[in-house]
Amino acid sequence: MAENNRQTDIARRTFLRTGAASAALLGSGVWTTDALRASAVAKRAMGDARNVIFLVSDGMSSGTLTLADLMVSRRDGRSSHWMKLYEREDIRRGLMDMASRNSVVTGSAAASSSWGCGHRVNNGRVNWGENDEEYTPILKYFRDAGKGTGLVTTTTITHATPAGFGANVPQRGMQETIAEQYLERRYDVLLGGGNLFYHKDLRSDGHDLYTDYKNADYHVVRKKGDLFNVPADDKRMLGVFYDGHVPYTLDHINTKEYRENIPTLAEMTQIALNRLSRNRNGFIMQIEGGRVDHAAHSNDVGGLIFDQIAFDDAIGVVVEFAEENPDTLVIVTTDHGNANPGLNGQGSGYNDSNVHFDRIQEFKHTNNWVLAGLSEESTINQIRERIEEATGIHITGKQAVALQDSYRGVYEAVYSMMNRPSQVLGQIMANYTSVNWVGSAHTADYVELAAFGPGSEAIGAFTKNTELFDVMTEAAGVEVEV
Ligand SMILES: [Zn+2]
Repeated sequence: MAENNRQTDIARRTFLRTGAASAALLGSGVWTTDALRASAVAKRAMGDARNVIFLVSDGMSSGTLTLADLMVSRRDGRSSHWMKLYEREDIRRGLMDMASRNSVVTGSAAASSSWGCGHRVNNGRVNWGENDEEYTPILKYFRDAGKGTGLVTTTTITHATPAGFGANVPQRGMQETIAEQYLERRYDVLLGGGNLFYHKDLRSDGHDLYTDYKNADYHVVRKKGDLFNVPADDKRMLGVFYDGHVPYTLDHINTKEYRENIPTLAEMTQIALNRLSRNRNGFIMQIEGGRVDHAAHSNDVGGLIFDQIAFDDAIGVVVEFAEENPDTLVIVTTDHGNANPGLNGQGSGYNDSNVHFDRIQEFKHTNNWVLAGLSEESTINQIRERIEEATGIHITGKQAVALQDSYRGVYEAVYSMMNRPSQVLGQIMANYTSVNWVGSAHTADYVELAAFGPGSEAIGAFTKNTELFDVMTEAAGVEVEV
């Protein structure tokens, strides 16, 4: 495998130097002299894609994609937008190997960097090599080509996945620095959470970054209403809608204050598209459903499925845009699996699975919300009542004791990753929803990759993550350093 990767890397450099673009070969993972020669013949026109839109559901195991589609079909009588893509004749679909430089299990920083700069870096780094090389991120290349640049997410806007397309830091936690880099690099549209890294009272240096952005002629918006009222001009825009990550969709749906003040991912996507499409040279935008990952880490089935559906709604907005703007390359994927949830067969003839799964539709709050209201002091009754308020499910006294023990640090699962309250609650709920988890961390699963539009023909059935950097820059005819 290592040898193969090296060959691919060498071939890619040669390929970029000679400029012999062969779309068809990129996905194959194998480069031969013959193939390279053939590529010169198969050379296609550069820059057919005016726009590149990259959608990433963070930490989406294949099971998560299934669960969201199942809920939408059973509840709304339609397919998810993602699964609808697979009815398209022009769809490219395959699996992608997301390994980072140091591990077969990637983190979001290394994953996004692999697409964002075309190099595998160590987990935790953002476009930053092992000898402190700073790899130019894709948004800079597109900006230098005169194209618009946008990042939209439900995490902090400075989080690892958006940062992988626009920043350079040795540690992903340097979110204050990332917020400064976005400004220095003049990206056009930035929407998400992350007040913690912009507000003078919350930043470690006491610096008011909002004023810096305003001085650089950005619209700065903090509330949903303001987002919709931004004039349709050519100014840049920063929208920050929460201190940390934007709240989970399920809590958003059921909390008035959130509904009034915080836009959905689909709404942010629409506004960003409206603004970026004013650039006649086109644009690149990354849209992240960032909290699917967090829900998976905490084995939170309501948090997971509702956020995946919110991400799916953003796919719907993008598909509509791409239909009106066919010179748009659309890529839809995830950066890694996480906790690999699945709907399990349960009961005689698996008869209980449907009924159990449909219960999730009625949930009012996430497990995250449940746990935020409990502590090691909580009584068995308090635990049971809080879970019932959030989910309508009456857990047994014995199950509540397990959760209480976990809070008190005396619960011992056979698989030690499952000791924490979030994992214990996740497994208690599995008895009632039939959805269970393999752990609480990222997984090495090859991930789902779908694409359509000009340049998507470069994507084969099995892709190495770094190849997507070439796919995007070549589709848009954007020059990169060798
Ligand atoms: Zn994660």
